[in-house]
Amino acid sequence: MKSEIEKERQSEDLMNIEIRFPDGNTKEFPQNVTPLEIAESISSGLARQVITAKVNGAVVDCNFPIRQDAAIELIKFDSDLGKEVYWHSTAHLMAQAVQALFPTVKVTIGPAIENGFYYDFDTDVPFTDTDLEKIEAKMKELAKENLEFTRKELSRNEAMQLFADMGETYKVEILESIPEDDVISIYTQGDFVDLCRGPHIIHTGKIKAIKLLKTSGAYWRGDEKNKMLQRIYGISFPDKKLLRKYLHDLEEAKKRDHRRIGKELDLFSISDAIGAGLVLWHPNGAMMRSIIEQFWKEQHYAYGYKLVNTPHIGKAHLWETSGHLGFYNESMYNPIIVDEQEYYLKPMNCPFHIAIYQSHKRSYRELPIKYAEMGTVYRYEKSGALHGLMRVRGFTQDDAHIICMPEQLDDEVSATLDFSLAMLRAFGFEHFQIYLSTMPEKAVGTPEDWDKASAALRKALEKAEIDYEIDEGGGAFYGPKIDIKIKDALNRSWQCSTIQFDFNLPTRFGMEYIGADNEPHQPYMIHRALLGSLERFFGTLIEYHAGNFPLWLCPVQVKILPISEKFEAYGKTVIARLKKAGIRAEMDISNEKIGYKIREAEMQKIPFMFIVGQQEAESNQVSVRRHTKGTLGAFSVDHMIDEILSEIAAKK
Ligand SMILES: [Zn+2]
Ligand SMILES: [Zn+2]
Repeated sequence: MKSEIEKERQSEDLMNIEIRFPDGNTKEFPQNVTPLEIAESISSGLARQVITAKVNGAVVDCNFPIRQDAAIELIKFDSDLGKEVYWHSTAHLMAQAVQALFPTVKVTIGPAIENGFYYDFDTDVPFTDTDLEKIEAKMKELAKENLEFTRKELSRNEAMQLFADMGETYKVEILESIPEDDVISIYTQGDFVDLCRGPHIIHTGKIKAIKLLKTSGAYWRGDEKNKMLQRIYGISFPDKKLLRKYLHDLEEAKKRDHRRIGKELDLFSISDAIGAGLVLWHPNGAMMRSIIEQFWKEQHYAYGYKLVNTPHIGKAHLWETSGHLGFYNESMYNPIIVDEQEYYLKPMNCPFHIAIYQSHKRSYRELPIKYAEMGTVYRYEKSGALHGLMRVRGFTQDDAHIICMPEQLDDEVSATLDFSLAMLRAFGFEHFQIYLSTMPEKAVGTPEDWDKASAALRKALEKAEIDYEIDEGGGAFYGPKIDIKIKDALNRSWQCSTIQFDFNLPTRFGMEYIGADNEPHQPYMIHRALLGSLERFFGTLIEYHAGNFPLWLCPVQVKILPISEKFEAYGKTVIARLKKAGIRAEMDISNEKIGYKIREAEMQKIPFMFIVGQQEAESNQVSVRRHTKGTLGAFSVDHMIDEILSEIAAKK
């Protein structure tokens, strides 16, 4: 490839072209300059780091010759696109290693994914762990050879002939689905050829750290009628330190898995006997849920909401009016027949809240009206999509609907955003990722309405002085929205709050209020959930805090650990005093030694352990141990009650 470019260069009368950088600066280069050469002209460090480039918006290889004036963006590994090209290139390297070790294996496809890459292989014998080690070692060996990824273009028929000769029947099948006159590109590194659009990294030597993670079965083209292939997942980095951090975070994520902690702390379970995606809240989890709900209710009254309660099912007509039976049908369960009429389990609470609004005529003087409910809804999710508390089939939304006059919109959106952030911060969350999603191609409502609503959302974000990203065209068809995600210590994000404008339902239900002019007007409506769903929020809370919850949320705040049975009587008096102060306390009355009792309480992540023996009983004290902090010393019970109550009040 390189030599071809050089030949071409010699044969042409080369002129200079102008390259424009993202910061607006421009620089002259000889025609056919490559992104890599441009990077070299800036610094050798940049040249080492550049993975791929965008030339006039198109993603290209680093040795792509630029023929005319162009805007260029050099892409490094630290960007999403850089990672994608890097990981996809590593998938090619893995396929090369697999075929070097197992020549009869056929290759299919190997894309980059959110974290790393995979490649699907057709092999009669599934790969073992030892095979993975061998493949990984072979990849490292091939990486060190600095094999260049070279691109070649050919006609579809030439490509089909090439892959047919190689016995790569899956590649031939892919080519068959491409129009006959399309130009096809193939990439070669060393002796390995793959059908691919590209781009790729410049050579395999850029891959410095590799880890193959697991194998699984996967049907060709995701269709279970097709042959089962063997998929290998892996990840790679340009630096060994990055791989170490990734593997460490992966371990940490496993430790934080809410399904694991949920079991260890006896918080919840999901039982096959009950049904997939249906959550059983055990006493410890239900205690936390009730604390969350209590706090949520108090806050809603304080923020001017009115709490309502609505049924779990509603007549078909309701869902026809709302449009859910039309566009949301796939997420709804089959109807229940009552008195020969069809009723549906509710997938959303909105129509019920609208019915309360419409229970009598509304005057502009009553607006804004804000109805909130912990509303339990049921939505169908494919069984493969279900995941612990994060994806379920029945869940309770902390739902609310704000119905207001157009002139109240800015204030209401702003107040809702402030409320969301205050609510999330109360649970110990500090870092947020915020998205503003605007009008999609298919939408109801006029562009003027969309502009007005989007402007209100934007204004609220700016007033709150928080960073946000715009998801252009990412709004629901019925209105723009703000989504708030929580970021955790492992840099993972969890969807929580959503503030969603709606142009659709007020029209469909014919919602009205009588204005100051004595005429009927259509109100604006906002759907919002601050926590999202209680189930997912609880899962997030568990993973974020790794089960070490803020004191105010802990189902058991203090565990009394008597040194022996003799001191249980004193322990009981301590419990009584704690309970009287509103502190949740329990005593370990097992026959175990104190060391064992401490270990148990530590495993249960109980914040305070009060050890009571002879000395403590005589001095009316307790020996205090704090989870993760160790021994704090002996204190009077009153002192500890004050300490604990102030920590609870501070919600730390
Ligand atoms: Zn490729
Ligand atoms: Zn709603």
